[in-house]
Amino acid sequence: MSNTEISFIRSNIPKISQVSDGIIEMENSGIYTNYGPINQKFEKQLVEQMFNGVGQCVTVCNATIGLMMALKYATRHKDTRVARYVIMPSFTFAAAAHAALWAGFIPLFCDIDPDDWMASHESENELLRQYGEQVAAIFPYATFGNATDIARYTALEKQTGIPVVIDAAASLGAHDALGQGFGTGSPHAIVCSLHATKTMGIGEGGFIYANNPDMIEALRAMGNFGFGQIRHATMPGLNSKLPEIGALLALSGLERLESVVERKRRIEQMYYDLLPDFGFQHQRGARISYQFMPVRLPPRYAPYRHAILERMKEKRIGTSTYFSPHLHEQSYFAAHSKAGDLHATYALASSIVSLPLWHEMTPEMVRYVCQEFMNACHAADM
Ligand SMILES: *Cc1c(COP(=O)(O)O)cnc(C)c1O
Repeated sequence: MSNTEISFIRSNIPKISQVSDGIIEMENSGIYTNYGPINQKFEKQLVEQMFNGVGQCVTVCNATIGLMMALKYATRHKDTRVARYVIMPSFTFAAAAHAALWAGFIPLFCDIDPDDWMASHESENELLRQYGEQVAAIFPYATFGNATDIARYTALEKQTGIPVVIDAAASLGAHDALGQGFGTGSPHAIVCSLHATKTMGIGEGGFIYANNPDMIEALRAMGNFGFGQIRHATMPGLNSKLPEIGALLALSGLERLESVVERKRRIEQMYYDLLPDFGFQHQRGARISYQFMPVRLPPRYAPYRHAILERMKEKRIGTSTYFSPHLHEQSYFAAHSKAGDLHATYALASSIVSLPLWHEMTPEMVRYVCQEFMNACHAADM
């Protein structure tokens, strides 16, 4: 065991060599993009399999572009000279803040809940009170696949008139509290990624889901140069289309998704059992499908995080620190944002460690990672 390298992430991308029938079909059809038959089939299958047949979706070339479009669409009735801010957590990935900025808004960072690590409702409410009609949208992140309380945001949107877009980049395979695919029935855009590092990766890709056919059709047109009529732009547009080859891989990924998620869950459970002295995310839903295992160091080890991870590297175990630095600590975002009180964010980010959790890890590998992780913590603490 001690000789094998355990990488931080191992992609789970369907083998192109195993979808050769589909490729030949695609070549014969001569259709490579523009929401062709394979994209249509994937969208249909995705809604059936992951969202109980409820709602609609449109594929996109990646989730970052999907988030930009969803924000642009959701805020179409806002006067953006007044409504300039998008409330979002700082404890998230850079893509989310970039998406807000490209859509024309300024990120307004809220704090997180110290237990579930998602946007703190108190912090969001405080910023809403403070910034009022200057807020264009609320942009929560379903952190690491955790189940955002969608009903609460629906009520908030109703009460304030401020639209909501949910960054669910890492949520495919996750379940809500009722055990349904996360996002099922959501009136707000749910944006998911199919990037190589996600549970169901295809390389680059993603989709936007909502139980709202008008929204999904508008986003489909927006993603095709804003053409609401034939070669006639009726709205802001760009090109966000997923090539047919991507949709072919995604269809293949869907077939194996359930077994991949179940394998990952067994590894997740091993981490809980083997690391009883460490902090873990409180799950609001029935299931998460982690891309890696986020672990919170107890306060006595947190100051030594760097040394602990260096020691893991010496043992040839890949680790990371998602999301440290968090967004407000990154120079570009610090210069192009506003922020409320972020003390729970700073506290979590400074003590977070990401350990490997990929579907082909053996129990032996997980035990080895945990043993070396505890050794590294004890060594650093002496
Ligand atoms: C992966 C990820 C994204 C970006 O997804 P892409 O498909 O790579 O653009 C955005 N937000 C979060 C939280 C992510 O984890």
